[in-house]
Amino acid sequence: MRISKEEIEKRLIEILGEDNVSTDPIDLISHGYVSKGLETYFKDLKFRATYFVTPRNKEDVIQIVKFCNKNKIPIIPRGAGTSTAGQVVPIEENTILMDFGKHMNKIKEINISEEYIIVEPGVPFIDIQKELSKFGYFFQAEPGSAFYCQIGGMVGNNASGATSHKYGTTGDYVNHLEIVLADGTMINVGHRNGIVKSVAGYDLVRLFVGSEGTLGIITEITLKIGKMPKNEKSMIISFKTLDDCWKCVKKIKEESENLNLELFEYADSMTLEGINANFKWLAKRGYKKIKVKKRDGTILLKLVGKDIDGQIELIKEIATNENFYDELPAIDIFEEPFDQVMLWEGRHNAGPSIARAMKPPQDPRMYIPLVLDLAVPPNKVINFIKIAKQLSKEFGILPITFGHFLDGNVHLIAAITINEETLKNARIFQQKLMDKIYNEFGGTITAEHGVGLWKQSQLVREYGETTMNIMKKIKDLFDPNHILNPCKMGVDKIPEIADLKGLGE
Ligand SMILES: Cc1cc2nc3c(=O)[nH]c(=O)nc-3n(C[C@H](O)[C@H](O)[C@H](O)COP(=O)(O)OP(=O)(O)OC[C@H]3O[C@@H](n4cnc5c(N)ncnc54)[C@H](O)[C@@H]3O)c2cc1C
Repeated sequence: MRISKEEIEKRLIEILGEDNVSTDPIDLISHGYVSKGLETYFKDLKFRATYFVTPRNKEDVIQIVKFCNKNKIPIIPRGAGTSTAGQVVPIEENTILMDFGKHMNKIKEINISEEYIIVEPGVPFIDIQKELSKFGYFFQAEPGSAFYCQIGGMVGNNASGATSHKYGTTGDYVNHLEIVLADGTMINVGHRNGIVKSVAGYDLVRLFVGSEGTLGIITEITLKIGKMPKNEKSMIISFKTLDDCWKCVKKIKEESENLNLELFEYADSMTLEGINANFKWLAKRGYKKIKVKKRDGTILLKLVGKDIDGQIELIKEIATNENFYDELPAIDIFEEPFDQVMLWEGRHNAGPSIARAMKPPQDPRMYIPLVLDLAVPPNKVINFIKIAKQLSKEFGILPITFGHFLDGNVHLIAAITINEETLKNARIFQQKLMDKIYNEFGGTITAEHGVGLWKQSQLVREYGETTMNIMKKIKDLFDPNHILNPCKMGVDKIPEIADLKGLGE
């Protein structure tokens, strides 16, 4: 017999106390939604959790999970909820959103001599950086959402970002995880110290990293840490055209052994407008006025380490070779540490900032979810950007592109005003672009943001049925009742909305 909502709430309160269980619509709406645009247009979409809980410790997590497993109640573990692929969107009736930010947010140990840190999942990433910086250390993998996300969510998504060509992804730094499995069993995978090498057994750490809350609930994490680089200078090189910009990129890559590039980014003119919107907002709050040029072939770089001025000179030399380009670029150098922070914050927040720079639409607008985080082999990135822009325009979609030159990751913010006709277009557009990604570029649907709700139907194209069946078996092994973040990752039933089906027909 199915347990009633009242009985679920009563038991949750028995375990956690009233202060840690909420059914308040404000908590439920603010902690889970599909997409603001879609919700406004399709008023009967009700993807909302039923309970919002804040466990105090791992014993609470174990008790909740045991209760949920017995009664087949879905649980979504969540960090700051900044995922862009719908990872923490509730799909099933009676879903419990489990949040770690309120209580399970402690840094338990910092060990500088062995270079590791032990944290609970709800610690904000930026707090880890702040504490480590006191020792001249930092955690190397950094997503664009660095100022908001939590470490549990970063491990859940295997987050990375603009510096991953140099430092790798979150998973490269996870030494150990403490995990509560779907039946309430607690396991430890990896090594709870600063060990730098081990090939003992199957690599279960790697399996859980990036599993998006579908295999177990992480209650503690041990991370390797590294020394912060000394000296930093940033540059913007603005070419008028993408072709000139790409010539320069190739030359810079040829010189890579003489350069210590921490960031090597591409941005188009709309992205730069977004960055400027961010600057304008900061200037209104009394910060320095900065404005960057709006040009389609723009490169943003950060150099670190020794002989920083020599590195800058070398890049200037490459970028101003008169025989090489149709037109020489404008070059701006950012030396002041805080100017650089502003620049890179502006770039990391380009997505939300672009929305601020665009005229408010009359009808709801959405960013087409499938194409936001594609990647192709790095040398093909320029062709891909051109094709993606062209195709977007053919479908009446506004294409905004930025990304990471060295790892082939292109963020295509394809903005569209939602109505019946345009939704049909959006579906065809994303399918055509995915055809190109898979058939022509050998690319991937997601380089860093993850699979979540929106991208799961493509996984079978990316890996084939046989591999997906193995993934489904892994899910069944760890979570036979499919209570952990159900309907995500392509290992469960895929809701029709994941393909925008049933909408705009
Ligand atoms: C402006 C912006 C820029 C972004 N830039 C990047 C980027 O550069 N690179 C990138 O990788 N991502 C990026 N993202 C996506 C996202 O912010 C990151 O992946 C981030 O690390 C997610 O952290 P979170 O705390 O918000 O996690 P959530 O979104 O809350 O959760 C992420 C996943 O982890 C799971 N999870 C959370 N806690 C646990 C736990 N304790 N146990 C098990 N599973 C858990 C969740 O179920 C979910 O599947 C960006 C998002 C925004 C809005």
